[in-house]
Amino acid sequence: MSEQNKNKPSANTSLRPATQMVHGGVMRSQWGETSEALFMTQGYVYDSAEAAEARFKGDEPGYVYSRYANPTVSMFEERMALLEGAEAARGTASGMAAVTAAMLACVKAGDHVVAASALFGSCLYIVSELLPRFGVECTLVDGTNLEQWKAAMRLNTRACFLESPTNPTLSVIDIAAVADIAHEAGAKLVVDNVFATALWQSPLTLGADVVIYSATKHIDGQGRCLGGVVLSSEEFIEEEMKDLHRHTGPSLSPFNAWIMLKGLETFTLRVRQQTQTASILADRLAEHKAIDRVLYPGHADHPQAEVVARQMRGGSTMLALEVAGGKQAAFRLENALQVVRISNNLGDAKSLITHPATTTHQRLDDDQLAAAGIKQGSLRLSVGLEDVEDLWEDFEQALASL
Ligand SMILES: *Cc1c(COP(=O)(O)O)cnc(C)c1O
Repeated sequence: MSEQNKNKPSANTSLRPATQMVHGGVMRSQWGETSEALFMTQGYVYDSAEAAEARFKGDEPGYVYSRYANPTVSMFEERMALLEGAEAARGTASGMAAVTAAMLACVKAGDHVVAASALFGSCLYIVSELLPRFGVECTLVDGTNLEQWKAAMRLNTRACFLESPTNPTLSVIDIAAVADIAHEAGAKLVVDNVFATALWQSPLTLGADVVIYSATKHIDGQGRCLGGVVLSSEEFIEEEMKDLHRHTGPSLSPFNAWIMLKGLETFTLRVRQQTQTASILADRLAEHKAIDRVLYPGHADHPQAEVVARQMRGGSTMLALEVAGGKQAAFRLENALQVVRISNNLGDAKSLITHPATTTHQRLDDDQLAAAGIKQGSLRLSVGLEDVEDLWEDFEQALASL
């Protein structure tokens, strides 16, 4: 989706997601390659000085510099826009580059932002530490409490930010309701949709204005490289984000965009399989006596089961566990697992488990941990592509050691 390349891939939006993820966004070169080409180039040459002038003026379509746009990155952006049902997309170097660019595109000094407090640590830094340094105040609310969102709105509120399901406790926030509250106040709603994935939740359809992903997670899906993407209306991407993105440079590498493009070919297959396995493990673990609690969107006992039923088409590849016996038991379980590996990453083909209180959320004090619902016995599991019976046997043997 380059701003200059008028030779946009033909987007047949009537095709279903699995088909779009294989064919969507393809721009073939003169060689007619089957697989998407990797245009590993910083710049572009022009046939004449006049052609260079015309391209810089925007009178002639084409690429000028890969910080602005690159054909491989354009193919990735187009495929992501098709997946999300968005008018436009901008690839970024990481998920955090996407969050930062999207938030900076919404606000200026003197504005106010409201965000759900249950956020990925780096997202919390952006809204509660970085933005205030530039004169943008931030109010944090319990995202599941709509009264708190309403009460936090001010005349100068320009953006609301949330993640749903949240990391790591998998709480679910009512996106349509928060979008209404934001719009009534004249603010945009930005949703980090990493935990739900585009397969199971469509924030734009629910009323959000901007969706961001860490492509590092399920979009690559095989633990290889960092990337991110911002999806929104053509107007937001062109008017609010284009110059910011061009001139501050959080650009996605063509190499990483190519990996992500190929990752998207198997995206629906992987996310479906990982979700199915996660759901089976969630059922079985909930029955195990060494486990106090399993939080899984899609389970009837999920605290926001009614919101899940309304806004998600599927559960999650993630589940949250609480083991009896606190940190010691949680560590013992992690250390006893042999197939499931200890890692703070997620969305990978390999199942990964982490102890949030001592890793991803280590910066939080006891009160903040309690507010976020993180206990010393809490573990977060990202379910991979292994055979479900091997994962279950791994948990059975590890739990037996508690
Ligand atoms: C990983 C993650 C991010 C940040 O993505 P990076 O690609 O690591 O920069 C943002 N939000 C959520 C919910 C994440 O899980």
